[in-house]
Parts: sequence; structure tokens; C-alpha cells
Amino acid sequence: MRAQPQASHFIDGAYVEDAAGTPFESVYPATGEVIARLHAATDAVIEAAVAAAKRGQEEWAAKSGAERGRILRRAAAIMRERNRELSELETLDTGKPLSETLVADAASGADCLEYFGALAADIKGDYIDLGGSFAYTRREPLGICAGIGAWNYPIQIASWKAAPALACGNAMIFKPSDITPLSALKLAEILLEAGVPAGVFNVVQGLGEVGAALARHPAIAKVSVTGSVATGARVMETAASTTKHVTLELGGKSPILVFADADLDAAASGALLGNFYSTGQICSNGTRVFVERSVREAFVAKLVQRTKAIRLGDPLDEATHLGPLVSRAQYERVLAYMKIGREEGATLAVGGSACRPQGLADGLFVEPTIFTDVSDDMRIAREEIFGPVMCVFDFEDEAEAIARANDTEMGLAAGVYTRDIQRGHRVVAKLQAGTCWINAYNLTPVEMPFGGVKRSGLGRENGRAALEHYSQLKSVYVEMGRSEAPY
Ligand code: NDP
Repeated sequence: MRAQPQASHFIDGAYVEDAAGTPFESVYPATGEVIARLHAATDAVIEAAVAAAKRGQEEWAAKSGAERGRILRRAAAIMRERNRELSELETLDTGKPLSETLVADAASGADCLEYFGALAADIKGDYIDLGGSFAYTRREPLGICAGIGAWNYPIQIASWKAAPALACGNAMIFKPSDITPLSALKLAEILLEAGVPAGVFNVVQGLGEVGAALARHPAIAKVSVTGSVATGARVMETAASTTKHVTLELGGKSPILVFADADLDAAASGALLGNFYSTGQICSNGTRVFVERSVREAFVAKLVQRTKAIRLGDPLDEATHLGPLVSRAQYERVLAYMKIGREEGATLAVGGSACRPQGLADGLFVEPTIFTDVSDDMRIAREEIFGPVMCVFDFEDEAEAIARANDTEMGLAAGVYTRDIQRGHRVVAKLQAGTCWINAYNLTPVEMPFGGVKRSGLGRENGRAALEHYSQLKSVYVEMGRSEAPY
């Protein structure tokens, strides 16, 4: 087995196995090879993780923010030193090409640990003058937080949840997607090595029911999930029974608006990366590309020409642009949407089929695909496909483009390409999306809060905003006179 971990779970600073848990496998989607065999967490494993987290959190929260920050920054440095090793593991687990994982996965996790490590010393409350007496607020940890990850950015998601949680003095129990279980265990090793006490960051494996057990557990104060809209709603419902804090990073059907005055080559770059990076398996992808009618033909020609130059193939070859889809279920789902698009009457401008790069006959590869002549009511225009399928629409004027861009129940992200600076800001102000870009797409620096509106989610990851979602405020009134009562 090419990537077999020492054991399935990481609890209280050590690898833990419980062979009574349901067995499952991690598969390299470029070849179909099984790279690791693991067991889902049993109730006993979950209880051990909760007990360890309880002990670990008390020790961790007793340290100063400055000390916690130093340790998190040390973890960031270790992660950077191991970037290649972590990237190769992530490529095997997800099928994403090494050209991406080397720059976007552990690297983003390290940025996040460094950023929240830097902020940890500055987590503080306010002083409120009451004219004699006064009050102050303390920003305190929540306790034990559960993190539940999706399969598209495993170590990034684990780091985006762990870093702010730990900076605030919480402990975390993280459940990766069962499709990509491996890299979170490496994050646990790195945090321990950097000096995070045993029990502060634990990994338990399993499918949705393990996530649900965490969302239900009375000793857990918060749950943060990255996943589909349906899963997010279920987690929120489960978490309600114990009134947990909830952060939901969910799906999208995000628009990119390209105005006639835009730099069309730059806009094409944004649309291509915003649809085909990670083989289209990115929640914030701009899968609905609205182009002003007068430049539509020229813009589509650029997209098609550049799409034909995309290199699909062996993800471990650094020259490869596009790897396979992550799993057979995802592969079948994406191919089904390609068929639906054709049946609905959209024009297939490029792609549209499965493909077999040389030497990878069992890989789950599909061609990067662009549909034009898409109408707003088609299923390919309304439903999240989560694969390399771009839909292109045209529009006549700004108001129409905004109204159609907003005509979705989701609201994760949106992009605007224009050289008119006033238009850029005016349009963004009207777009119903939690994260917007002007003349860029899908850039998520850790300094910038990230999250959705409408059904795409609740709460924010990254930026200072994330600290508010991993802490709670205590107000303290201090009487400088005497307490008095009329009776
Ligand atoms: P899922 O919603 O299927 O799963 C997400 C995670 O939740 C997995 O770990 C899953 O376990 C777990 N889970 C499933 N059911 C429950 C439950 N009832 N209670 C608790 N946990 C549960 O998403 P995918 O992993 O398939 O990821 C793809 C989706 O994630 C896309 O829709 C995408 O848009 C969204 N996404 C959103 C992002 C964002 O930041 N907004 C980023 C990345 C992806 P398991 O799968 O192991 O059974």
C-alpha cells in the first residue's frame, strides 16, 4: 500500500486503531490503485477523542496567546519544509496534479497556520467606560470544536479549521472525508511535533455517521463543516439539539460577469481557472460565465482554443494540468451532467466526454467541457456539477447580468471583469455572494474572510472574522461603588 498510515485515527498525540470500525479504502483515482485501508471510528474511538480533547483543551487554553501563536508558526514552518512529501500524498489521495498540490494545498495550510499564529497574541476584548464603574469583555475559547471536511482540499480544509480554532485556545476533533482520509493525519503529526499538547488536535475517520455523531455530541461546543448544501443543512439540524455554534462552508453555482470593456485574455484566464482548476472540484467555481453579447464570440473562441491546450494525464508528472475526478461516483455524476447538457439543447463548444490518457486506462478522467447557448433554466445552469463543466451565457446590459447572476438559491462567490472601476464596485455591491473578485477569480488569501450567503453557508473562515467564529464573548461588569437595593 503506497500511502498506508500507521493507523486510522490520531488521538491524544498517538495513532490509534480499532479494527471493529467499518473498513474503507483510499483509492488513487488516476489508476484505481488502493493506496490505504482504514477503519471508521467506533463509538469508543469517538469517546476517546472527546476525553483527550477535553484534557488537551484545558492545558492549551492555559497558555498565553503569544505562546500558542509561536507553536502554530512552528507548525507552519514544518509544513513548508515537508511541502513536497505532503503534496505527493495529497495528489495520491485526491488525484489532483502535483503542479497544483505543490502550490495550493499544504502551502495554503501553512499560510493559515502562520497567519493565525501571528494573530493569536492579539485576541482580546474591549474596555467599556461606564462613568465610574466599567465593563470589559473577554474573548474566550468555545471548548472542543469538531471539523468535518470535504474531499477536494483535504489538508487545506483541515488547516483552515484547525488554525483559527487552536489560535483561540480550543481543541479540535477533525473528521476528513472518507474519500481523502490521509493528509489530516499528517497535520496532526506536525502540530504535535511543533509543540501543540497531545489531545488538542485529533483526527477520527469515517463516513457521514461519524460526522453526525460529532455534531450530536454534548461535550462538543461547535461544528464547522465543509461540504454540500444538503449535508450542511443536516449538520445544522443535528447540532441544534445541543445548541452548538455552527460554521457551514457549502456549495455554489457562482457567476463570472465579463463586460465588453474587460481585458478579455485576463477574463478568459479567470474563467478557465475558475472552472477547470482541481478538475472543476472547487466550491467557489464560477460555473456560470455571463459575457456581454458584443464580445461573446471572440471570448468563446479564446476559451475554446485555450481549453484544447490543457494537458490531461499523470497527476504525478509536474507538466500535467488536469487530473482525474476524485471518485467513481463523482466521475459518473459529471458525465451524467454532460449528457444532460446535450439533451437540454446546449451547444457543446469543446469536451463533453470521458477520456483515457495514455497508460491510465483505469483513471477517472473527463475532458474539460464548455457549453454555450445555455439558458438560465437548464439543469446544467442551476445545479452544482462539481466537475470541469463551464456554462457560457450572453447578456445585453448590466442590470440584466446582475439579475440573472443573482437568480440562484446559492451565494458563495462571484467575479466581475471590467476596466471600468466604478462599474466593478457598483456591480459587486449588488451581487448576492459572500466572496467577490474584481478582475480576478478564486484567489483566497488567508487574510481575506471566505464564506457564503444564502444557502451557501453561514459564518466565515480565514481573516480576523474567523476568530469570532471560534470564540465567545464574556462581558464583565465591574462596580466601583457599592451594590444597593431598594428593599
Ligand atoms: P458532502 O456534503 O458529501 O460531505 C462533506 C463532509 O460531511 C464529509 O466528511 C462527509 O462524510 C460528512 N457528512 C456527510 N453527511 C453528514 C452528516 N449527516 N453529518 C455530519 N457529517 C456528514 O460533500 P463532499 O465531501 O462530497 O464535497 C463536495 C461538496 O462540498 C460540494 O457540494 C462543494 O460545493 C462543497 N464544498 C464547499 C466548500 C466551501 O468552502 N464552501 C469547499 C469544498 C467543497 P463522508 O463523505 O466521509 O461520508
